[in-house]
Amino acid sequence: MLKDIKLKIKTFQTVLEKIPELRYAGESILREATIPTTLEEGVSLAKKLEEVLLKYREITGLGRGLAAPQIGKNKSVFIAYIDNQTEIFINPKIVEKSNKTNFYRELCMSAGIVAADVERPVWIVMEWTDKDGNRKSEKFDGLKARLYQHEEAHLRGRLNLDDAVSGGIQFATFDPLKEQLRNKKS
Ligand SMILES: [Zn+2]
Repeated sequence: MLKDIKLKIKTFQTVLEKIPELRYAGESILREATIPTTLEEGVSLAKKLEEVLLKYREITGLGRGLAAPQIGKNKSVFIAYIDNQTEIFINPKIVEKSNKTNFYRELCMSAGIVAADVERPVWIVMEWTDKDGNRKSEKFDGLKARLYQHEEAHLRGRLNLDDAVSGGIQFATFDPLKEQLRNKKS
């Protein structure tokens, strides 16, 4: 455990040095609700988010999403990086969600080397504006539903740490790439 924590801290130090744009739990902007943005500003913020996310991935091999407050912008935009592609979500809104929930130990670029086990709905229906200005609506489940809910929560000023199950905060010494959605709290 100690060895794994030391290794994580080393990587985290590199992140702190190379990505000064990132904001961390404790900064008030991460606990504020964001405001809707225009298409133009949304696309431009998404570009910046992508730069930061790709830099983070280069250093850590991790990172699947990033929301505007995490780089100090109080606007409703997040990006997701899935299958080597960046998806842009401008002014997203979750309009429907399942009663059934699952559990997952979530990492967050704003929470450093700490992970939080969070219970969230299994599926959601989300509406958002895409990079071409089209309003979209789609149902998501699995890891996408999980990721998008994590990012959308950032836009409402909530972190995974705020929604952790009791006893669910731990050092992220496990392999996040092997992490699976679970039906029960561990
Ligand atoms: Zn996050």
